[in-house]
Parts: sequence; structure tokens; C-alpha cells
Amino acid sequence: MERVTEYQVIIIGSGPAGCTAALYLSRANIQCIVLEGMQPGGQLTITTDVENYPGFPEGILGPKLMELMRLQAERFGAKFSALEPVERVNFLEHPFEVQTDQRMYVAPAVIVASGASAKQLGLPSEQALQGFGVSYCATCDGFFFKQKNIVVVGGGDSAMEEATFLTKFASKVTIIHRREEMRASKIMQERALNNSKIEFIFNTTVDEVIGTKENGVKQLKLRNLKTNEVTDFDAQGLFVAIGHTPNTQPFAGQLILDQAGYITLPHAHSTVTNIQGVFACGDAVDHIYRQAVTAAGSGCQAALDCERWLTHERITERWDLPKGEEERVD
Ligand code: NAP
Repeated sequence: MERVTEYQVIIIGSGPAGCTAALYLSRANIQCIVLEGMQPGGQLTITTDVENYPGFPEGILGPKLMELMRLQAERFGAKFSALEPVERVNFLEHPFEVQTDQRMYVAPAVIVASGASAKQLGLPSEQALQGFGVSYCATCDGFFFKQKNIVVVGGGDSAMEEATFLTKFASKVTIIHRREEMRASKIMQERALNNSKIEFIFNTTVDEVIGTKENGVKQLKLRNLKTNEVTDFDAQGLFVAIGHTPNTQPFAGQLILDQAGYITLPHAHSTVTNIQGVFACGDAVDHIYRQAVTAAGSGCQAALDCERWLTHERITERWDLPKGEEERVD
């Protein structure tokens, strides 16, 4: 397997956190590579218009924003490695190793910006209409559903919060939950139950999303799990709020993860993990804010923390392999 040792920092993940970390590091003359994973650009690449990222008064398409972030980092020398999911890491020895399906990267510092993935229902029609009426983020997309009938799927705090938020825009929000009891905390349930714009349908799942990319979502096929009856339900938007999964599986056993799998940072106001030289930022750490702008901000923090650590440890002086040098082992 090819062994790549020419970078001082390996950045795992290419969403706003990873791209911003790459921008700051490359502007500081630190050689870094961004390992993009299987969804280059991260979660923003499955949304359409982004209207809440500062600096774009007319809004910007999610994929375009990520392309610009990447170009900005590349301008200062950051390298990107496309479609290389990380399979294994060794953070227990220094320099650190990050193995993808194609190469073994070795570097003195790593920034983990691997993000989180919204859980999906797993329907082909859901996938086909992502960004065209199917969304996983009310804060991002709610604005586009003014005076529409919206369905939110889920029975947890996220579903209650998303549904309550969406009532600012929608004419009606229907929460569809697969069971009769909700998982959400009492206070969040009550907030939704007391909201006159929110209705509930229990013991029901979404079987199919009906619509087109041109005209968006029109209807949902709902299945009552008690009677097995399938009915058509008019809705112009489907928000799936059944939880997120942080993309942290390769780090288990090395970085401290909480019960849900998010990376736990041991020090306030620092992105350093429990391993000196490994930093973490973005949605792999944050399950509260989960915004592109907060992820980008924490990517900046990780790059600054990383740069200071490299300088403090005098690693920038010692890690001086000529650019392009690669050692091959089989
Ligand atoms: P969650 O608590 O795991 O709830 C997920 C919900 O989605 C459950 O009701 C689950 O149904 C349902 N679900 C899962 N897979 C499904 C599928 N394939 N089809 C249909 N329904 C499915 O996730 P969450 O709501 O995102 O919350 C995650 C954590 O963040 C929780 O600890 C929560 O308290 C916290 N959070 C807090 C706040 C807040 O306090 N403001 C806001 C959001 C989230 P079942 O119940 O049948 O399993």
C-alpha cells in the first residue's frame, strides 16, 4: 500500500470544518491534505439554497458553497484527496497513521472533521427528492416552505424541535411517528402538542414520497402499522428528523466518544482531543448547533490550535521531508 508522508497535517473530512481548517493551515504554510470521504463537501452538498451562510446576500447553492470553500483552500496549497474513506487510524503511536482504502497517510498531526450524517428513512424516492422537498434540517430549509403543508417524521426531541420551528413558516405541520409513545422529553412534547399548527399521526410510517425535482414533493404514501392500510397524504415538504449519526466509527477506542458516538473534547475552549496532536471540530463534536457557519468556525479553531501545537512542539522544524516525497511499501 502506498505510504504518504509529505503532509504535516491530515484533515479527515471535507465539509465546512475541514475546508476551513485546510484554508487556515495552508495560509500558515503548513502542508495539509483533506481526505474527502464518500460525500465530498459533506452535508451541504445534499441541500439546495443556503441563505444563512454570511457573505451571500442572495443565498448560494450548498454544492457551490462547498466548491468555493475547497477552491479557497487549494489557492493556498491545500491538497484534497477525493473519495478516500478512512478505514482505520492509529493515534496511539506518533507520528499518526490514517489508512484509507487506497493509501496509508502518516503525519505528526491530525484534524478530525468527519461530520455527522442525518439518518435517512432509506426510501429510493426520499433519496431522489433530497433538496427538492425532502430535507433533514429545518433551520437550513424551513424558510422555503412558507404557507405549505409539511410532514416531520420522528418522535424524538429533534422532531419536536424541527416541527415547532417549522410552524413559523408552514401553514400546517404534521408529525408522523412510528409508535404511539414519543421518545421526546416531556417539555418538548408539550410544546409541540400545545401548538395549534401541529398535528400528530401515530403508528405510521412513510412508504413513499411522491413528487418531481421540477415541482417538489406533492404527496406521501403513509402506512398505518396497526391496520397496514396505505393512504395518500398531501404534503409539499418532508423533514426527516430521526437523529444523526456522527461519522466517528474509525476513532472508537482511541478518541473519547460519548454514548451517541460524538467526540468528547476534554478541555473547554480547545479543539484538542484526549490525544495531543489530534484535534476535532465540526459536527463530529457538536450535536447542538450543527450549522455550516459554526462548523467552519470550529475548523478555524482546530487549525489555530494545531498550528500552535506544531510550533510549540517544534514539529514544523523536524517534519521537513521534501514536498512530493513518498515512500512506497507493499
Ligand atoms: P432520537 O432521540 O434518537 O429520536 C429519534 C426518533 O426517530 C425516535 O422517535 C425514533 O422512533 C424515530 N426513528 C428512528 N429511526 C426511524 C425510522 N427509520 N423510521 C421512523 N422513525 C424512526 O434522536 P433525536 O430526536 O435526534 O435526538 C438525539 C439527541 O439529541 C437526544 O438525546 C435528544 O434529547 C437531543 N436533542 C435535544 C434537543 C433539545 O433539547 N433542544 C433537540 C434535539 C435533540 P422510536 O422512538 O420508535 O425509536
